[in-house]
Amino acid sequence: MAKRVAVIGAGVSGLTSIKCCLEEDLEPTCFEQSSDIGGLWRFTEKIEERRASIYNSVITNTSKEMMCFSDFPMPEHFPVFLHHSKFLEYLRLYADHFNLLKYIRFYTAVIHIEKAQDYSTTGQWTVVTEKNGKQECFTFDAVMICTGHQIEAYTPLESFPGLETFKGNIFHSRNYKSSEGFEGKTVVIIGMGNSAADIAVETCRKAKKVFISTRGGTWVMSRVYDNGYPWDTIFQTRFNNVIRNSLPWLLLRWLTEKKMNQWFNHENYGLVPQNRSLMKEPVFNDDLPSRILYGAVIVKPLVKEFTESSAIFEDGTVEENVDVIIFATGYTVAFPFLDKSVIEVENNRVPLYKHVFPPHLEKPTLAFIGLIQPLGPIMPTAELQARWATRIFKGLSSLPPESTMVTDTIIRNEKRIKWFGTSRSQSIQTDFITYLDELAAESGSKPNPFMLLLKDPRLALTIFFGPCSPFQFRLMGPGRWAGARNAILTQRDRIVKATKTRVVEKSLDQNLFGFLKIFGFLVLLAAVFLSLRQPSSSPSDEQ
Ligand code: FAD
Ligand code: NAP
Repeated sequence: MAKRVAVIGAGVSGLTSIKCCLEEDLEPTCFEQSSDIGGLWRFTEKIEERRASIYNSVITNTSKEMMCFSDFPMPEHFPVFLHHSKFLEYLRLYADHFNLLKYIRFYTAVIHIEKAQDYSTTGQWTVVTEKNGKQECFTFDAVMICTGHQIEAYTPLESFPGLETFKGNIFHSRNYKSSEGFEGKTVVIIGMGNSAADIAVETCRKAKKVFISTRGGTWVMSRVYDNGYPWDTIFQTRFNNVIRNSLPWLLLRWLTEKKMNQWFNHENYGLVPQNRSLMKEPVFNDDLPSRILYGAVIVKPLVKEFTESSAIFEDGTVEENVDVIIFATGYTVAFPFLDKSVIEVENNRVPLYKHVFPPHLEKPTLAFIGLIQPLGPIMPTAELQARWATRIFKGLSSLPPESTMVTDTIIRNEKRIKWFGTSRSQSIQTDFITYLDELAAESGSKPNPFMLLLKDPRLALTIFFGPCSPFQFRLMGPGRWAGARNAILTQRDRIVKATKTRVVEKSLDQNLFGFLKIFGFLVLLAAVFLSLRQPSSSPSDEQ
């Protein structure tokens, strides 16, 4: 009989987990407390208690070829970076295509999960749900926790003396929906993550003044990277990953700074990160530098103190008549339905083996999917986690002993601190390609461009020098997808298709370059031909 798996949540992570269960002939039941799929990506004006809440202007900061699932490319007419509604449309296409909806029970919240009575022999879990006030109890062979980590707002009110006297409006970025109502207001935004930058750029069009107060600064990157390609398709290549992982630290730091400052000098904009050697998640915002240039957004240090109506910054400057304070200070990782004996959140992170399995459980039947912040899209990351976890549930693969897993979590955490620092916003940050490869190796789907070089050189070179897109993990092994090769070789076409909406003649430069390439090729051909025709010298010639 097929093993029964409970999937909690029907966002990105939940949907792909259902599909991975089906691929391994497991029997999934997904519980989603809200009315629909999409999780964070389903925008609603009304904020729901247990679901992430976004503002109406959210555009993805990862691009479509990098953030799709590995066997389901986005339609080629979809924009390169997507409005939340467009990404939700993609999730609906995915769910329809793989027929996932029939496994989801909507309006059903999981309120408690605990080990079943005979857990030590079966590894089973008891899952308690609530629907319309009615509770139900189920037994499952395995559980996949896909509830996201941007639900519970982190609002460090206690860090700001005087806040209790402030007479204006205070709220967290989770409660921000649009710039409506900000006309003529003076706004102070605490934090310098992606939410802070987006909200500053949007509200400053209406507000009187907008301040961003940052303690650590940040690198700001444009979504538009070299030659106009999306940043992640250039930054996240295997070639660049090898370089990043092999260069001496100081040289890497110097190169990173140089690259980051190519667009604008971060020092001159008051943005430069305090610790420049860290690879902390950057802010992706194409408008922020120009808004700073217009004086519409003003970057300030941390607020030292608030009064009834003013903000006093650490540099001694004071801004009077502040109307609104927005805490864009991130989120708290929480699993209210799990007992501390199962997992414990420490410093906003859960020590998990390869970010998926709690190491101390006797049975490998509980997995966390999507509890991660990769330096790239979360979608292919969550998908590979789910592919690995379902193979473990099925018994096709196994976990190492507890001590090995614990050591791994410690080493992994030390590396995280070295690369990304100790900031709360980086508590579950991880590398992208290296981590994907690690997961893919577990499920037998890690591509090897060097082995491919002889068999399929074009594909091998695209894999190594081109974007590390999710299709690479469907070329071989279990779950191989016949369309993967073509999807990889046509990914650049799909990117360009979305923007080249007016047919244009090739520029003179491009024509000249094309001509030179053909000319060079002909010269090479002629040289080879001539060298072959040259009579070889014989002893009689020499006489
Ligand atoms: P969620 O999308 O949060 O879904 C969790 C689901 O679980 C929800 O449907 C919720 O209702 C349900 N649920 C929760 N608790 C329970 C329960 N007890 N019982 C039943 N159901 C429950 N990542 C990227 O890769 N690229 C981006 O461009 C990007 N942009 C982002 C923009 C914003 C503003 C934010 C805040 C995050 C962004 N992220 C981005 C990160 C984001 O976390 C992921 O894109 C993704 O949404 C995570 O999906 P998930 O399924 O893990 O969690
Ligand atoms: P975040 O990345 O966690 O950033 C929180 C910010 O608040 C950081 O700058 C942090 O500074 C600061 N902060 C925290 N505690 C503070 C304190 N006590 N005093 C002063 N500053 C404090 O949160 P987020 O911006 O909401 O982003 C959450 C996730 O959603 C990220 O992965 C992000 O990429 C994603 N997101 C994406 C988009 C998009 O695609 N367009 C938009 C928004 C968010 P330190 O770093 O110094 O701790």
